[in-house]
Amino acid sequence: MAFFPKKVRTRFAPSPTGFLHIGTARTALFNFLFAKKHKGTFVLRIEDTDRERSEERFEQDILEQLSWLGIHWDEGPYRQTEHLDIHTKYLKLLLSEKKAYYCFCPPKELEAKRQEQVSRGVAPQYNGKCANLSPKQVQELLAKERKSVIRFHIPEKRVSFNDIIRGKVEFDTALLGDFVIAKNLSTPLYNFSVVVDDFTMEITHIIRGQDLLPSTPRQILLQEALGFWKPTYAHLPLILGPDQGKLSKRHEAVAIAQYKENGYLPEALVNFLAFLGWNPGGTKEIYTIKELLRDFSIEKIQKGNAIFNIQKLDFLNGFYIRQKPITKITELCIPYLAAANLIIPSFESQERMPNFIGYFGKEIVQTYIVAATKEKISVEEIQRIIALYHQRLKKLSEISELVDFYFKTTLSYSKDMLIWKESTDQEARQALDKLEEMLSKIKERDWTEKTLVKIIMPEAETFAAHLQHPHDRGYLLWPLRVALTGKKSSAGPFEIAAVLGKQKTLKRVGEAKKLLNA
Ligand code: GLU
Repeated sequence: MAFFPKKVRTRFAPSPTGFLHIGTARTALFNFLFAKKHKGTFVLRIEDTDRERSEERFEQDILEQLSWLGIHWDEGPYRQTEHLDIHTKYLKLLLSEKKAYYCFCPPKELEAKRQEQVSRGVAPQYNGKCANLSPKQVQELLAKERKSVIRFHIPEKRVSFNDIIRGKVEFDTALLGDFVIAKNLSTPLYNFSVVVDDFTMEITHIIRGQDLLPSTPRQILLQEALGFWKPTYAHLPLILGPDQGKLSKRHEAVAIAQYKENGYLPEALVNFLAFLGWNPGGTKEIYTIKELLRDFSIEKIQKGNAIFNIQKLDFLNGFYIRQKPITKITELCIPYLAAANLIIPSFESQERMPNFIGYFGKEIVQTYIVAATKEKISVEEIQRIIALYHQRLKKLSEISELVDFYFKTTLSYSKDMLIWKESTDQEARQALDKLEEMLSKIKERDWTEKTLVKIIMPEAETFAAHLQHPHDRGYLLWPLRVALTGKKSSAGPFEIAAVLGKQKTLKRVGEAKKLLNA
């Protein structure tokens, strides 16, 4: 058996046949963490041998999302198709040693046989018919260009290996059947290519999803046939939806790009992904990538299925949002405001307007235009309004719905919304009259949240007492909140009034009065 390298080398080997999703991103993360923990190398290999299904845009997406998540590879990206000559060399070796053979059985015949086996209740497998062809027959059929594939001759034995997570795993090869390893000498298939690449790239640990477990005995048999040393395996638990079903679009969008667009931070996703199957014990739930690099241990990965819980992700995301300075949060929220058409970047050319989230991270525009009024607005002003929601934001994408009132010229809400509890229209009108009277007396230069609280709060008490609802300040403050935002829930009315400024506040109170009188 060939020499086993001492230095840890892991690989993430996605097929570029779809966007990077939650499950594969977790595989990447664990390979990355394991390699780093052992001062090893993390290799990125794009498995693009399925030429029909592989697409450039998927490969791009995989690279982009991994970088965004902070999962950095040390080597690669290698592309499997770049190593075809090595694959061919090893295919020829197996053929010459009669460990593999050409199979000319027509697909129709194979399918009929398969169906017959299924109907008898036996595991479908190839019957080995072409293994008996003589070299001369094979040459003749190849010369006639008869359609063929290359099959691996399975030795009859039990295959067992020690999986780091699952312990001893055993398979009976009698159930496998001689499987196809290549369509022809230059078109190897997954099980074969992966074995050759893992060997030539000196991969020591194969950490991958449990869905690939059925491939492992095949790959081990190929390693034995080729005289390769065996890597160590760790098969990660499945990720299931909250209903214990397969994780699908039905549950939550599964593409990482989708999460990014929905306003999740990479820190939150990485923390969340780590806990999909890994549990360090204890009560600590917040793990930054730095802490993961320090504390991750593969032995703490569970065997049982991991359950995907979006509330947990939201909780983590809220946490990481609160951790970030408001300047950063503003920068991250602005694209959402632009996407909701509340603001427009004041580029000379609108063509530079980004149509994807994340653009602003590269080039921060300092002034914007409020779409409704065409007035200029600075980043600082936008920041003041976003700041009111910084503490309660769970996803960046929520920001536009929370602050849209700020950017609108007129708010639309129903008159009933202005009415607090058992209040009457008359009382709401009184409240707004009172507010208007008090607010108009406050000087522009005194227009701060603090002054507003100082002046209005005592009046809210008096007003409530006067209406025989002692201490229920909502009788005065509720109509104010609705007048300013058109919403039932928002940040506090004083903070909002302070950010809106005197003029806009009074205008909105006036509009609310009009609505009540209508
Ligand atoms: N390319 C395979 C896939 O995307 C994974 C290969 C492996 O990890 O062995 O499913």
